Amino acid sequence: MNKNILPRTSSPKRYEIKLDIDLENFSYLGIQTVEIQVLENTKSIFLNSIGIKISHASLIAANDKENNNLSVEYFEDEERICLSSKNEIKKGEYKLYLEFNSDITNDLKGFYRSKFLTKKDEEKWIATTQFEPTSARNAFPCWDEPEYKAVFSISIVADKKYLRVSNEKVLSEKEVGDNKVETTFVDSMKMSTYLVAFVIGELEATEIGEAGNTKIRIIHRPGFSDQTNYAGTAGIELLNFFEDYYKIPYPGSKLDLIAIPDFAMGAMENVGAVTFRENLLLIDEEKATRPELNRSVTVIAHELAHMWFGDLVTMKWWDGIWLNEAFASLMEVIAADNKYPEFKLWNEMNLSRSAGFAIDSLENSRPIEFEVATPEEAEEMFDVLTYEKGSTVLRMFEVFIGEEVFQKGVQEYLNKFKYDNTNSSDLWDSLSKASGQPLNEMLPYWIKEEGYPSVSISINDSSLLLEQKRFLLKDIKIENSNKPIPVSIKFLDTDEKFNLILDQTNEKIDIEEKGEVPLVNSGGWGFYHVFYDEKVFNSKSIAINSLLKR
Ligand SMILES: [Zn+2]
Repeated sequence: MNKNILPRTSSPKRYEIKLDIDLENFSYLGIQTVEIQVLENTKSIFLNSIGIKISHASLIAANDKENNNLSVEYFEDEERICLSSKNEIKKGEYKLYLEFNSDITNDLKGFYRSKFLTKKDEEKWIATTQFEPTSARNAFPCWDEPEYKAVFSISIVADKKYLRVSNEKVLSEKEVGDNKVETTFVDSMKMSTYLVAFVIGELEATEIGEAGNTKIRIIHRPGFSDQTNYAGTAGIELLNFFEDYYKIPYPGSKLDLIAIPDFAMGAMENVGAVTFRENLLLIDEEKATRPELNRSVTVIAHELAHMWFGDLVTMKWWDGIWLNEAFASLMEVIAADNKYPEFKLWNEMNLSRSAGFAIDSLENSRPIEFEVATPEEAEEMFDVLTYEKGSTVLRMFEVFIGEEVFQKGVQEYLNKFKYDNTNSSDLWDSLSKASGQPLNEMLPYWIKEEGYPSVSISINDSSLLLEQKRFLLKDIKIENSNKPIPVSIKFLDTDEKFNLILDQTNEKIDIEEKGEVPLVNSGGWGFYHVFYDEKVFNSKSIAINSLLKR
């Protein structure tokens, strides 16, 4: 499949981006120097860029002696530019220098503007970013694919009345005339372009406290500091939880949770500058309903889970986005349930599984992971099969290998691939290694095939018979299935428990010693339905009947 990707002839190492922002006229000037590696002799360098006017481009050799002007060609349909040199550019290290200008748009992605009303009903504007999946290219020219990780040094020049926030803490601030201040932030970790963020406006920062060494603030409309306590406290609690769970320090230099008045997503996991819908962070605890509190906690947990899983370690390409989201959706429950057990979030996760069942029992369901060629296809991946089925299938395997073993596998995976990119098989390999179970062979059946099975149970003499079929809502044709299903069985009459991998269509198990009243999918986390035949159903088990009548 022809992915719409940049030719692999150059790659960035460190971006220095200075943006001079005119928030009154919704426009900005950019000066950008990128340390790059040219990977083969060529005359052209391709970058992603859309709607940006480049006024100057030049290439400076590493020894700073040669300075080649580059001509610019725009390919708006392909969302890229071609920078060409008259002479051949030899393989090696360079600095790419660009000057450009663009507008602060009104379309909730890239670098966009957002309006809010103050307590006195005055209209104010902020400018903010939303880059995932492929809108960093709307804000500055870049290698806008997750695999091109680089260090980002961001500077913002703007009227001094504006608060400015980016991924990292402030390195320096200086007055630059015209009532303007230039703020430079410390270098980011090596990361993907879609995680870069900057926000400016007449906003207020409320300092909440620290989690470990990390200072946490909530950035919000002025005058709402008294509504930041609930989400701020959750931020501290949950960041502490994740540092402990992953056993890797938080990868940023500070953490700002930013309440954005106009926001298309629920929240976005930009390292150190996580953006949220305002109502997830500003909470009047006297009036808030339980679902509002629950939602605030779980969304914060979800985004903070991404700081490591997604941000520190990132998928190679967008077909891996489901893993990012499925994993964070599982981690939000693990973390939030640990700190806020009163929300009974595991019960809620059962509803997620039902939502996954509902879509995945249709004949035209899709596999969780599928090939993604274009930005539009990447956006289509943010659905029930990614979040709800993906997270509950992961939960099934977490329970199957044990929660502590799963945690150990995740730690190994993050340590092995930090600042790098992965395919989903890299996680299965780490989990297989940690557990000694063949998850790397089992998971592809669940991830790369659509649909899920039902397991029929019958007892014949002293054998338990299990038979799996694909479950379809409309029983058009019965399809046999041979997914490797992690099955846990508990015998209600003897309390005997055991696990097995059902990886054939039929399996016969000797149960003479185990018991006669099996509860299959004990614990309830299997992503499959169980059907008992009449004999088992009507067996002397009061226990089973009481379970089924619920
Ligand atoms: Zn997410």
